[in-house]
Amino acid sequence: MTDVIEVTGLTVRYAGATALDGVDLRVGAGEMVALVGANGAGKSTLVKALSGLLRPAGGTVVVRGRLAQVPEGREMFGDLTVDDNLRLGGWRNGRHGRDTGPVYELFPELAVLRRRRAGSLSGGQQQMVAIGRALMSRPEVLLIDELSLGLAPMVVAMLVAHLRDLHASRGLAVLLIEQNARLALELCERAYVLESGRIAVHGRSADLARDPRVTAAYLGGH
Ligand code: ATP
Repeated sequence: MTDVIEVTGLTVRYAGATALDGVDLRVGAGEMVALVGANGAGKSTLVKALSGLLRPAGGTVVVRGRLAQVPEGREMFGDLTVDDNLRLGGWRNGRHGRDTGPVYELFPELAVLRRRRAGSLSGGQQQMVAIGRALMSRPEVLLIDELSLGLAPMVVAMLVAHLRDLHASRGLAVLLIEQNARLALELCERAYVLESGRIAVHGRSADLARDPRVTAAYLGGH
């Protein structure tokens, strides 16, 4: 299987402090993979390295195909409509990038809100817009930074169902960066646990969910 993301020996330092230390991580085509870690573990640094926003001190980052990001905090243009926010995600694709139809097919809940100001939507609705906006660039891989942050469990369950559909119907690869380890392991086939800039454990989610190192620190001991 071709990898869409291949991170090898990635090391990032900020003014002498090491934020990532020899991180190896891969995401295969059409695979759903999670990166779990506590505050300050280095998740945001990895996201920046994947988006090319910072230059590593060592190692390599290879992304094959188009990577679209669903940023932490969703980053809507609150005064623009839902439709305009979506179109901003497709600007690279020229005229074809303006067709928001496929996103509304995927998220019928958004179709009725298309003329609403994005800033007036609920957190869950905004997260759908952020995912839809990322899909407008027709990516091979979606990088989702904190899917569940600040959202009610029912809303998260609805988003998860949508992501499962997307994965099944389009074979989209997903790298999910998540503080909620339970959710991450439930949704993704494989996962990596980042601790103080290093991958402490990785493997199949089903195995990690039973691994004492993971259950004690990330799943409340169960
Ligand atoms: P959070 O979930 O809180 O965003 P994180 O896992 O994303 O945490 P990072 O933001 O990647 O963690 O930070 C990793 C480490 O690097 C932390 O110790 C942090 O204090 C440090 N760090 C992050 N950005 C900078 C910076 N610009 N300058 C110096 N140190 C930084």
